Amino acid sequence: MFETSAPYPLEEPGLWVERVGDKAFPDGGPALFLDRDGTINVDTGYPSDPGQVALRDEILPVIQAANRAGWPVVIVTNQSGIARGYFGWDVFAAVSDRVLTLLREKDCAVDMVLACAYHEAGKGVLGTGDHPMRKPNPGMLLRAAGMLRADLGKSVMVGDKDADIEAGRRAGLSRLFLVREANAAAEQAAIAEIQAISRN
Ligand SMILES: [Mg+2]
Repeated sequence: MFETSAPYPLEEPGLWVERVGDKAFPDGGPALFLDRDGTINVDTGYPSDPGQVALRDEILPVIQAANRAGWPVVIVTNQSGIARGYFGWDVFAAVSDRVLTLLREKDCAVDMVLACAYHEAGKGVLGTGDHPMRKPNPGMLLRAAGMLRADLGKSVMVGDKDADIEAGRRAGLSRLFLVREANAAAEQAAIAEIQAISRN
């Protein structure tokens, strides 16, 4: 057992697993996996101020396409700022709540949030290198797919770091999209892929 901070959906000291809402999804369908910082919201470097959260507009139609197709949308985010002692789960909760609220205002629904706080630079129980839940390892994607009974082989991953793409690859995904600041090409390709899979 670990010291539990009751209101938070922590499966273990460094792993947040939250089901958002109660929308049901068919077994064996695809899911959309999204990195958070730098993909959904502008990455300000260990974001810790809910008031400073700003969405990346390019990602909104990707989430809307998955919502329309009836796919679950899953955020998988590394949060080593917690292991490093920059902030705690309370701050993560506030920032995450702000991200989800801003997305809802743009008609974008998210169905799960997973966050991994483990990092080798951490102290104590969070100071774990190469943790199976920390991207580029696939643990968070595997955990979410298990809960949602999603088919990883048909799923889509969008992120802004090589570790996001590698986590998707290790989880068995083949549809992996690396977003870039300069253009929305990856987002448009992801939307086309979601629409193509949904037609089949
Ligand atoms: Mg990122």
